[in-house]
Amino acid sequence: MRELRNIVILTGAGISAESGLATFRGPEGLWEGHRVEDVATPEAFARDPVLVHRFYDARRENLSQVAPNAAHAALARLDAEWPGGLLIVTQNVDDLHERAGAKRLLHMHGELRSGWCRACDARVAWEGAMGGHAMCPECGVSGAVRPDIVWFGEMPYEMERIDRALMEADLFVSIGTSGNVYPAAGFVQTAKYVGARTLEMNLEPSLGSYLFDESRIGKAGELVPAWVEEMLG
Ligand SMILES: [Zn+2]
Repeated sequence: MRELRNIVILTGAGISAESGLATFRGPEGLWEGHRVEDVATPEAFARDPVLVHRFYDARRENLSQVAPNAAHAALARLDAEWPGGLLIVTQNVDDLHERAGAKRLLHMHGELRSGWCRACDARVAWEGAMGGHAMCPECGVSGAVRPDIVWFGEMPYEMERIDRALMEADLFVSIGTSGNVYPAAGFVQTAKYVGARTLEMNLEPSLGSYLFDESRIGKAGELVPAWVEEMLG
């Protein structure tokens, strides 16, 4: 067996669900009572910006009522103590990984606590409500800041960096993802292509389970700390 040095970890809604954050099931699913097409597409934002802002303002507000769980804490510990390469790629837009202390982290679908000014293209840290009239602290233009969220139909962030990390990976671990949203669903194939070992941890076998060398079924809050213990043991 080859030496494990570089680890890429993909996390999805399942890890946040155990902290009490609502999840959704992709296109045609419901998210907090809304159809995903009504709140998570550029077309929805163009059609009804008030509704979309209200939705994300509520999601951002909700972050203050949840806390990182044992899985977030374990990954932050692995990040701090793993001597080799490591990258946590999260599909989640919450900030639970960073609140647990993770540093080598990338939000491929954007962040609730970030705004994107379409007037000057700046990304700015955002607390509290954004609404349709918010002023950009960088350029001073009002009404041009949108949630810094990758909506359906938009390109996920930092795909080149993710790809580079996958090409160098010795181990790819997928945690709490359904495995049905591309491009993230394809990461395991890239990892296998370069000869990395692959492990998934999920509440139920994902659609791509057969692609993984190993599947551990159960709660992230139990499986992830046990796995990190094995890795750092
Ligand atoms: Zn601006």
